[in-house]
Amino acid sequence: MMAGTAYDIVVVGGGPVGAAAALGLARAGFRVALVERGAAPAAFDMHSACSSRVYALSQASRRLLESLGVWRNLQRISPYDTMRVWVDEATRGLRFDARALALPELGWIVEHPLLVDRLWAALSYANVEVFPNAGTVEMAAGGVGLADGRVLQAALVVAADGADSSLRTAAGIQTLGWRYAQRGIVCNVHVENAHEYTAWQRFLKTGPLALLPLADGRVSIVWSVDEARARELLALDDTAFCAALAAAVQVLGAFHTPTPRLDFPLRLLQAQHYANDGFVLVGDAAHTVHPLAGQGVNLGFGDVASLCETLKQARAGGRDWAARRTLQRYARARRAAATEMLAVTDGLQKLFDARASVLRPLLGAGMGAVDAFAPLKAWLGRQATL
Ligand SMILES: Cc1cc2nc3c(=O)[nH]c(=O)nc-3n(C[C@H](O)[C@H](O)[C@H](O)COP(=O)(O)OP(=O)(O)OC[C@H]3O[C@@H](n4cnc5c(N)ncnc54)[C@H](O)[C@@H]3O)c2cc1C
Repeated sequence: MMAGTAYDIVVVGGGPVGAAAALGLARAGFRVALVERGAAPAAFDMHSACSSRVYALSQASRRLLESLGVWRNLQRISPYDTMRVWVDEATRGLRFDARALALPELGWIVEHPLLVDRLWAALSYANVEVFPNAGTVEMAAGGVGLADGRVLQAALVVAADGADSSLRTAAGIQTLGWRYAQRGIVCNVHVENAHEYTAWQRFLKTGPLALLPLADGRVSIVWSVDEARARELLALDDTAFCAALAAAVQVLGAFHTPTPRLDFPLRLLQAQHYANDGFVLVGDAAHTVHPLAGQGVNLGFGDVASLCETLKQARAGGRDWAARRTLQRYARARRAAATEMLAVTDGLQKLFDARASVLRPLLGAGMGAVDAFAPLKAWLGRQATL
């Protein structure tokens, strides 16, 4: 099968999931190339201010990054051991402690630029050949074609090219899903009171607002609001924005000196299938979730762990590891995991949405918040201990 191919596997997309996939597959003994449309990540400056694009990593993601030898190099990382989730008053909401699960932490906040820099740095030690600035990569006979005309041949193409995956489209894989009429606003901001290594999330009538603790004492916010409110919040000056934030969250005291605000559209997307012969989807190319549960990248890292294991087992058993019937084992497991995540995040989004809320009137009628949040608590417990 491999005769005449330059690589066993070409991974397309050098975001966190694609880079982790290339690394994991190379460490499993496959000959791997990684192709990225844009530039290689800039070397991370440890003296820079914390980036406003961050991820909350789960225990399972930590295990993957440890196995890839990357975890120990994530020096600027902020553990959190408590999660607070509420609707009206923080004191009446859900408090979720690592101690209750006999864990030292619930998760870790890591900056996107640090994570991708450390993943890319590890690629050279694992003999992954990297092709940054490759332009828009397309499917070609037996592999992929770069914008400069080169063709990289491989038995398997791993599409990690994000939510708008052009490789997925070229492979004829349809998607289900929709755009929420909302945008996510992200920035970092100083807080008056200590963040207590707690992840805070308030379900406002206008959408969820999360505050994640950063290593430098600030918090990183992800504020999901409808399009009109997003335009208003983005147009405010820093002082007015911080006042709006303080009024919305009502914990941690006053806020000041936010970093420039970024915004992005919120969507739900699920590919109808994840694998063809010699072709497989991972990360946001396969599934894109609402950020309210902070699980987008964790789901992608779960794909990486599962794909590496599936291919290793197939090769050890002498099976054709690039064949669709082999990849189906990965595809079934990961599509089920993504479906559960999509259902929970979409369900929560709808449950608390002011326009169609089931829960808000119940809370108003005196239903105990703890009871209302019980299924969420059980689900969070499972995610934290996976
Ligand atoms: C502003 C912002 C904030 C976010 N905040 C959070 C958060 O707090 N928590 C969370 O869990 N998730 C968050 N997300 C979602 C999270 O970023 C994604 O789940 C995660 O990045 C998915 O990683 P990925 O590697 O699959 O895809 P991506 O990160 O999208 O990477 C895809 C890569 O493929 C490259 N590419 C695309 N097309 C091609 C092509 N044809 N050829 C070659 N290369 C190509 C792109 O340049 C890119 O580098 C956020 C997203 C955004 C945009």
